This record gives sequence, structure tokens and C-alpha cells, in this order.
Amino acid sequence: MVPINELIRGFKLYQKEYEDRALEVLRSGYYVLGHQVTDFENEFAAALGEGCYCAGVDNGLDAIWLGLAASGITEGDEVIVQANGYIATMLGVMQCGATPVFVEPDEYYQLDVANIEKAITPKTKAVLVTHLYGQATRMDAIIDVCKKHGLELFEDCAQSHFAPYKGVNTGLFGKCSFFSFYPTKNLGGFGDGGGVVSKDPAIIDRVKVLRNYGSDRRYHNIAIGYNMRLDELQAGLLRVRLSHMKELIKNRQHIANRYLAEMNNPKVTLPLIADGCEHTWYQFIVRADDQEGFREYLKSQDVATDISWRTPPFLQPCMMERYGYKEGDFPVTEDLCAHIVTLPMMEFMEEDEITKVVEAVNSYR
Ligand SMILES: *Cc1c(COP(=O)(O)O)cnc(C)c1O
Repeated sequence: MVPINELIRGFKLYQKEYEDRALEVLRSGYYVLGHQVTDFENEFAAALGEGCYCAGVDNGLDAIWLGLAASGITEGDEVIVQANGYIATMLGVMQCGATPVFVEPDEYYQLDVANIEKAITPKTKAVLVTHLYGQATRMDAIIDVCKKHGLELFEDCAQSHFAPYKGVNTGLFGKCSFFSFYPTKNLGGFGDGGGVVSKDPAIIDRVKVLRNYGSDRRYHNIAIGYNMRLDELQAGLLRVRLSHMKELIKNRQHIANRYLAEMNNPKVTLPLIADGCEHTWYQFIVRADDQEGFREYLKSQDVATDISWRTPPFLQPCMMERYGYKEGDFPVTEDLCAHIVTLPMMEFMEEDEITKVVEAVNSYR
């Protein structure tokens, strides 16, 4: 079976470096908020682009929560998000006491700027864009709408590390942006991790206070904070993976380019790349009319598939209970969820595995 993803492959690519770094951290005697975290924060921010800062935190969801809270999003605010996004984005908004307001996506699976204005109310404070599947949202039009209506702009970059729009990496467009370093992500660790990035050092300082019991210096607490720290071991291992980001993204692009060039089944719609975007292929998503039939066929050909995700967040029981959503409220999103299929994509695939996926897709009838 060609797996949908297999994390051990990524580990094996740089096994010696990961093992050396893990031992280095274990032997250092520093396990929480030492130089690995600071070095990772500096190296990640420098790699993303000029003039930004990073605060490492414990996971992507908490990055969203702390970043929004540090930026002043609070009780009673509304934040516009795309309905086909991941539920963690909405949970991050809700943890701040704010309400996520959903809008439908476009043909690239990204937030459709044409739907933003209809969703604005007197309580709307911000637009939170999620750059899904490894491709940037086209930001020019989004920035214009936010400016026009005085809305803050935030970015969920959990799936878009180093995915540029017009040459600028995602994460550098909004007031602040949120990264996950969960193991499957394009920059992932060996456990949980997350980061908040901003060009405003005051926001990053505030996140650093909030992540550490609200403490601005030892035994001095200025905020009702949390314990949401990134640990030294994860930060050390993330530094290794970060140093190989270019090769790792090239590997994914090689797989995707072969898929795009060689798949030619009219029953399977391939993903589109938007103008100004360079796709980093966190996931390779196709569309098929008969989602289950297509998946069954690929399984019979020894190719694993997945759906990200079958039930959209607004139809999850907890969200229906809280906001009273029902089927039919976001038909574009529901239609997507009923037809998208995730194909194998990971940090390394053998050429004959890629061929096997292509042949399975092309022979589907
Ligand atoms: C993975 C993911 C998150 C959550 O990150 P965790 O580190 O798992 O908490 C948030 N948003 C998006 C879009 C994600 O893909």
C-alpha cells in the first residue's frame, strides 16, 4: 500500500542530525525556555522574511488563541473565517471569547474575498485567513477589503510554512500569524509545537508573557497567563528540520509536479494553482464525483487516501449546538467535503510509488 503519509520517512532523511540534536538537548540540562527555543524563534523568523519576530508556543491551536488574545481580540468580537477551514482555527477564536463567522471558499479552496463584505456586522473585528493545503490565499484583495472596513487581518499558516504569495511568505501579511509544528505539517516536530509570528514586537512580547504564567520576568506576573511553552527538545529538532526546508519542499513539489503532469482522468479534477502563488503541497487534494467509489478503487489498487475533512466544522455537533448551524447553511463547503479526496503526499516518495498513484488514478473508471 502506498501510504497517505509516513512520518518515519522524514525522520530517516536526516536521522543522524535529529539524533545528535536530541542527545545534545538531553545532555545540556536545559529543557524548558533555553537557547534552543530562542534560536529556533530567531532562525524561523529570519527564514520567513525580514522584520518579523516569532514566539514559540506549545501547539498551533494555542498559537491562534494567544496571538489573537495578544492582539486584542476578545469577548463579543466576530472574526471572519472560511467555512471549509480546520476546526482548530475556529476553536482558537472561540477560546478568546470571540465568535467565528463563516464564509464560503473559492475554487482554490481558499477564503473567497467576494464573500467577506456580506459577513461584516458592527461586531466584526477581523478576518482570519487559513492558507489551506500548502497554497497561499491571494492576499491583495483581502488586504484591500480589510483596509476598507477597518478590520484586522490574521493568518493561520499551519498548512502554509514558506508558501509565498507574490514572493512574500504567508505569515507576513497580517497583524500576526499562527503556525503549527505538529509532526505532519511541512515544518513539523516530533510532538506538539506552535508559533506566533508578527512584525509588531509588542505582540510577540505579550505572547511570551502569556505563554509563561503571565510573567514578564522571574516571579513577576503582569497578566493572567497560561502555560503554553514550546519545549527545548522540540525546538532543537525543529531547528534541524528548518535547516532542510528548501529540500523538503522541493521533494513535495517533485511529487506534485509528476501528479499534475501525468494524471489525466476526466473523472478526477486536479488542484489549481492561483496566480502569484507557489504551492508547497502540504496536501494534494483532488475532486471526484463519487468520492467513496474513487477511494474504494484506489484502495483496491493499494493506494491509501483520506478526506480532509468529510464533515465541515460548522456541522460538528459542538458547533451546531453552540451556533445552531444546520445542513445547507454553507452549500459550497458541503459540496467540497462531499467530493474532495487526499492523495499520498509526504517528505519522500519512491518514483515507482508516485507512478503507482498516477496509474491508479488514471485507470479509475
Ligand atoms: C494543524 C492545524 C491547526 C492546529 O495545529 P495544532 O498544532 O495541531 O494545534 C490549526 N489550523 C490549521 C489550518 C491546521 O492545519
